[in-house]
Amino acid sequence: MADNAQTPASIARIAIPVPLNRLFDYRLPSEFEPSTLKPGMRIRVPFGRTHKIGILLAVEKDSDIPAHRLKDIAEILDRQPILSHQHIRLLKWASRYYHHPIGEVFQTALPLALRKGKPAKISSEKYYRLTEAGQNTAPETLKRAKRQHALLCWLQQNKAIVSTQQLRDWHSNWRPVLKGLIDKQLVEASATPPASNKHLLNQTALKPNAEQQYAIDRICQKLDAFQAYLLEGVTGSGKTEVYLQVIEQVLKQQRQVLVLLPEITLTPQLEQRFRQRFNVPVVSSHSRMSDNERLNAWLKMRSGDAAILLGTRSALFTPLKNPGLIILDEEHDSAFKQQEGFRFSSRDVALVQARNLSIPILLGSATPSLESLYNVRRGRLQLLTLPARAGSAQKPSFQLLDVRNKKMQDGLSAMLVHEIEQTLAKQEQVLLFLNRRGFAPVQMCHSCGYVSRCQRCDANMVIHFSDNTLRCHHCGREQALNMTCPACKAAQLQAIGRGTERVEQTLKQLFPDKTIIRLDRDSTQRKGTLENYLSQINQGQADIILGTQMLAKGHHFPNVTLVAILDVDSGLFSIDFHSAEKMAQMIIQVAGRAGRAEKPGKVLLQTHHPDHPLLVTILKQGYPAFAEAALSERQQAGLPPYSFQALLRVQAGNTHAPQHFLHELVDRLRPDMPDDVLILGPVPAPMARKAGQFRYQLLLQSAQRKALHKLLDTLILSIESLKSAHKIRWSLDVDPVSLY
Ligand code: ADP
Ligand code: ZN
Repeated sequence: MADNAQTPASIARIAIPVPLNRLFDYRLPSEFEPSTLKPGMRIRVPFGRTHKIGILLAVEKDSDIPAHRLKDIAEILDRQPILSHQHIRLLKWASRYYHHPIGEVFQTALPLALRKGKPAKISSEKYYRLTEAGQNTAPETLKRAKRQHALLCWLQQNKAIVSTQQLRDWHSNWRPVLKGLIDKQLVEASATPPASNKHLLNQTALKPNAEQQYAIDRICQKLDAFQAYLLEGVTGSGKTEVYLQVIEQVLKQQRQVLVLLPEITLTPQLEQRFRQRFNVPVVSSHSRMSDNERLNAWLKMRSGDAAILLGTRSALFTPLKNPGLIILDEEHDSAFKQQEGFRFSSRDVALVQARNLSIPILLGSATPSLESLYNVRRGRLQLLTLPARAGSAQKPSFQLLDVRNKKMQDGLSAMLVHEIEQTLAKQEQVLLFLNRRGFAPVQMCHSCGYVSRCQRCDANMVIHFSDNTLRCHHCGREQALNMTCPACKAAQLQAIGRGTERVEQTLKQLFPDKTIIRLDRDSTQRKGTLENYLSQINQGQADIILGTQMLAKGHHFPNVTLVAILDVDSGLFSIDFHSAEKMAQMIIQVAGRAGRAEKPGKVLLQTHHPDHPLLVTILKQGYPAFAEAALSERQQAGLPPYSFQALLRVQAGNTHAPQHFLHELVDRLRPDMPDDVLILGPVPAPMARKAGQFRYQLLLQSAQRKALHKLLDTLILSIESLKSAHKIRWSLDVDPVSLY
């Protein structure tokens, strides 16, 4: 013991993925030379009765833990740090800012394979190339083997040498096709990876219009310093083209680009566009990929083997060897905020990361968030606008359909049905939006008024006829659909209201010879179904597309000329102050799916509130005017972005514990409460019971970010010292994007 204590720097300080916001000290056994240990390496340590893998953050001489209680580390998993100083700095900052346990923050930053202890090594790829015969064979000779024909064409047109990864992207079932070509001696294995790109571009860039050119020039003027831009451009205005041309300049400097998207389903489309344009390795990272694929993407960006990474939220934490640019598309999308565990905002952390790395960051949207517009006003973001649609596409026209006192057929007014008929007659596509899946949201007894409720949530069970179930959309509970009332035994249970399933049924009756595609979480559950539907739509093999918010996100449907929002009213009267903004963004985004090619589009909104100020402003004056008004309202009410919030959510299996805990906590905080922080609550959560848990919350708000965060420090210490905290579960949401 004694001589151990004299050994210099023998304490390893480690971030371990457990819900405690501190580092853990371990002893280095004498066989380890302390100087070989560097921050950023993975270490396996004994923890409780198991082992855990953590990240080494420091090697120190002393520990506050008495020597006899220190345990030895078990294993060092890396020879070189897998995280750089820069990265560690960002993650430490994030842990402090979000008041989230540091070990869990580091965990979020690592691909699962690394968390599990897999070696940080790129699994080797094989390469293939055309033989001489392959280069000279006319693909037509393979006409009878369709896939082989397609692969030969693709190889001849695009690539001299391809990797297994590229083949996988070409087609998921590529192996037998490739084998066919190898058997015919048209393709052979090749030892060498593709030669480094002589030509950066596969395809010449479009000629930018004046606004695009201005945006490109502005950004490219200063590529080697931090600068944050907001690219506000109506849907179809050519934002992606601006991204591509800026990326080109960054790639020319041998630097890498990180592109963040809110939704997995948007990656293939964009990835294809990037690959068509650039002759550089493009990788992607999202939850539908295998652990190994994600690890490879992560490692290739870290080693510099890949130049562009496309990914969702947590791809932000991918290390870049030569960082050059971060792009965040659809920056307004709340999917950029993680809603569980480590509740970080990918947008806000990306801004900090770009500043740390001294590189530009570009946020793009047709409907920028109020935060970003506010940051433009404060000079923190530079605004670049693309006011018109690129190419020949025109802006869609808006029209409110006042459905008061009108006869409706399952949510479709006669006026709307007429418009659908007319559009279909022109061989154009119709897109209908209804943000409610299932058949009907309520099942009620016509005889006694009984309503089917979830036993575990304050919510109604939703009727799903497709598989004859009643389902709770909040906890996932499911039961068989029964038409006899459990209360009065009358066979009088009725479906009230409508969801996408019901509207689909009605559309099939109204348009029996048309192809109707329903896109919602139920219809696209199986892997690949959404992709199939999307390509079916784009090939013109669909007449009516009906779907939920899934449709509102960035997809490109060139032949859609009529868009209708079946029920705008459902979003108009929420108690959450964020909802007006979300509603406005949704309307504009859904509308943006219309008329993106040569044909002009029309957008219809069915409403019972045609005079509602939100609707009137958006339709008459557009999103910027809405945003202006919404910001003034937020300012007058002292709400974010004019103040800062944190939401403490608490839950337990009984209603008493959360209340009791929150009252105790507030009492504890009260004595040294700064004047400039408001405590709102405790109050029951908007859904007070969910999955059998009783939920309460406390909202903290201040015009001073510093004051709020100082209070949060105290708050966490207080929670840790409160006995009643053992009876509840809590989470802290800094900068919440939803108060639910
Ligand atoms: P956004 O990302 O804003 O939705 P895109 O970059 O996808 O817009 O552009 C929309 C459409 O307009 C695409 O089909 C694109 O090829 C086309 N486009 C973009 N910029 C130009 C341009 N300068 N000239 C001609 N067509 C363009
Ligand atoms: Zn439930």
